[in-house]
Amino acid sequence: METSLLTAVGGKTAKPLARHLELHTVGDLLRHYPRKYIAHETVTHASEREDQRFRPGEHVTLLGTVEHVTGRRMRQRRGHITEATISVGAQRFTCTFFNQPYRERDLQPGTRALFSGDLSRYRGGWQLAAPEFIVLGAGVSADLPGLIPIYPATKKLRSWAVMMAVRQVLDVLDDPEDPLPEVVRATHGLASLGDALRRVHLPDTWAEQKAARRRLVWDEAFGLQLAMAGRRASATTRPAPACPRRDDGLAAAFDARLPFALTTSQREVGESLATVLAGDEPLNRLLQGDVGSGKTIVALRAMLQVVDAGRQAVLLAPTEVLASQHARSLRAMLGSLGRAGELDADPAGATRITLLTGSLGAKARRDALLDAQSGAAGIVVGTHAVIQQGVGFADLGLVVVDEQHRFGVHQRDELRSRPGDTTPHVLVMTATPIPRTVALTLYGDLDTSELTELPAGRQPIATVAVPAGVRPRWLDRAWERVHEEVAAGHQVYVVCPRIGEEGGEPGEEEAPAPAGDLLDPERDTEGEGPEAEARPPLAVTEVGPMLAEGPLAGLRLEILHGRMPADEKDAVMRAFGEGRVDVLVATTVIEVGVDVPNATMMIIMDADRFGVSQLHQLRGRVGRGSAPSSCLFVTEAAQGSPALTRLERLAATPDGFEVSRLDLEVRDEGDVLGAEQSGRRSGLHMLSVLRHGDLVAEAREEARAVVAADPSLARHPGLAGLVRSVVGEAEAAFLDRL
Ligand code: ADP
Ligand code: MG
Repeated sequence: METSLLTAVGGKTAKPLARHLELHTVGDLLRHYPRKYIAHETVTHASEREDQRFRPGEHVTLLGTVEHVTGRRMRQRRGHITEATISVGAQRFTCTFFNQPYRERDLQPGTRALFSGDLSRYRGGWQLAAPEFIVLGAGVSADLPGLIPIYPATKKLRSWAVMMAVRQVLDVLDDPEDPLPEVVRATHGLASLGDALRRVHLPDTWAEQKAARRRLVWDEAFGLQLAMAGRRASATTRPAPACPRRDDGLAAAFDARLPFALTTSQREVGESLATVLAGDEPLNRLLQGDVGSGKTIVALRAMLQVVDAGRQAVLLAPTEVLASQHARSLRAMLGSLGRAGELDADPAGATRITLLTGSLGAKARRDALLDAQSGAAGIVVGTHAVIQQGVGFADLGLVVVDEQHRFGVHQRDELRSRPGDTTPHVLVMTATPIPRTVALTLYGDLDTSELTELPAGRQPIATVAVPAGVRPRWLDRAWERVHEEVAAGHQVYVVCPRIGEEGGEPGEEEAPAPAGDLLDPERDTEGEGPEAEARPPLAVTEVGPMLAEGPLAGLRLEILHGRMPADEKDAVMRAFGEGRVDVLVATTVIEVGVDVPNATMMIIMDADRFGVSQLHQLRGRVGRGSAPSSCLFVTEAAQGSPALTRLERLAATPDGFEVSRLDLEVRDEGDVLGAEQSGRRSGLHMLSVLRHGDLVAEAREEARAVVAADPSLARHPGLAGLVRSVVGEAEAAFLDRL
């Protein structure tokens, strides 16, 4: 599979593959799977439209039979023209060739061939001008497969050129060695690799094609799960620092002071974490729970147990805003228990919470680093970026990663692989719960715990989609409602997708190229030029002043976004947290973790520009107190459009697991798996977290068994190769650490 195509099939075939499709090795080519197949006698379009109607200019591949062919000199223009009429089912097409009289020989009546070219109108019918074609039943194409593969291709390198190259490769090469042990193949009823590759490219029947795909998908799932199992094994090669529980420490004091009762699942998950933390087998846990389920307290109680054992805990957040918010709320929750070294520290004992972010001034940074290094800080809260730069800890016992979906898998590895004899316990928290199959795929190396309930007394968040284009009145009413909320002593968020005042790089919190566009029915239809793409998304710096001078005049209104200096952001957040600001107009900088229970209303402008999970996260910023809360998705999307339908569905779906299912449905799920591949060609071509859940679970069992018996895969070199091909060198690095 590593053989260069140049060596395998020569430059004539290899060079275009490299130039146009970046396929360099035999493996690259054989893993360039067909996008779809056509059975004989069917017509296929280059575009994916289903309606079978042709459009001038469209690129098509047709399997047809020549009915008649003529060649003649042209009268007006000088030259020769060949015209072949082909039939494809009931349709007729004329293929024309200029100055290629020899074409007449190739296309004798009765010849079957695959034609590929651009359609145009000609004498009331359809014409393919100078199409490329392969004659079937002659030479190399004599034994065409029963299903003709259609490849991802370009105008410069057509699908069948790829097919011919694949055939050539399959003809000259021996079957690759099969990395899967015979017994695994037998147990799971999998084809051999050689068979699978042959049949995925050149299947005779749909059944063959299906069996081939199953084997190849299995390889991807298995490679990924082996990587996960390997990471898991590597995470446990070194012991973790044991943090036995104490009943006279901070954890106990904190529990005694809690102003509310823990939910049942908070208690149960807490117990299970406490037990593992007490031992020296590393905790390796994913904590799932819907927005507002109270993950932070679970994490804090775990951190306190670690501090009680004389060690340190670090809490990592994806953004600076969230990190300082976490530091602030941990301090608030701990009260005097968190003010070690201050006058009002608890006399019975206290710890210190130190914030470490990139925007600290030089002195503050030095102090913070010193706190971490000396052990004065029991809890360090920071952004991942900062911790990556190699902060020294006196005795790190636990790493808590909040909102993990923003971090990649190998960042998780980095945390664990800090030098030393021990490896810290790791607790990862997701922002939005994810379905089990996705969890297995992305977090297969972690055990999972779940908070299954929200704290008692939570008010449901009344969510409504507001089609402002259709019902502008509703929006006016929304601004009135803001006044009412504020009059009742509550606070309101207004969220916009963009910062505004362009010039700088877009902030990380800007909504990505509108996810809604993916669903926009206009996008694929003709005649909708870029001008139909309408206005840019609403911006904080424009909407803020507009509201302050217009419908929300008289209210205390502030704006918040990622391009503001850190101290300004902090000041605004603090003022909002303390109730000195009525309305906060912000970007998604508030998306994760921000916790102001007095905020009871959120208005999301241009809501169609956000992803489904993002909207659920945003909405979770309200409904945190005991007062009823509401969230409005404001959009100009048209009635009945997929974008509005999606918002309406989300509005009707309060449950996080349901939301993530909805999210997967609407998202190009390549994102789910591809996001972590950071630009590298992904080894995952076929695996779909939605469709292959069962298979992923099977592969995971098998992978765990293999790795338990042979952690470094030393006795399974083929499987080590499979892991590398699926997750890439960088992420397979753990193999070398074992
Ligand atoms: P998330 O799981 O989204 O991170 P948080 O940890 O931010 O949720 O908790 C949301 C809010 O609920 C916080 O204000 C927190 O203090 C509060 N909370 C957590 N647990 C409980 C509980 N058992 N009873 C009442 N309120 C709770
Ligand atoms: Mg949180």
